[in-house]
Amino acid sequence: MSRFLFFLLLAVIAWIWFKKSSRSDTPQRPPARTPPDVPVERIVQCAHCGLRLPEGEALVSGKDHFCCAEHRNAQNVGR
Ligand SMILES: [Zn+2]
Repeated sequence: MSRFLFFLLLAVIAWIWFKKSSRSDTPQRPPARTPPDVPVERIVQCAHCGLRLPEGEALVSGKDHFCCAEHRNAQNVGR
């Protein structure tokens, strides 16, 4: 009977040890990733034809934006 208790105790200790080690082995859940800040390009409107396009692709003349050189020239000539 004492042998049974010994093995029972051994099993309990092993179970506790296993539980403890498995808990420490589980990697901590990384914080929920937020989407990276994607720089949103401003949309500007062509002062001549009204076409909307990203600011990076627009031609700037003064404070006006244009979709192409023709429209920029046309606007400047018109003034
Ligand atoms: Zn235009």
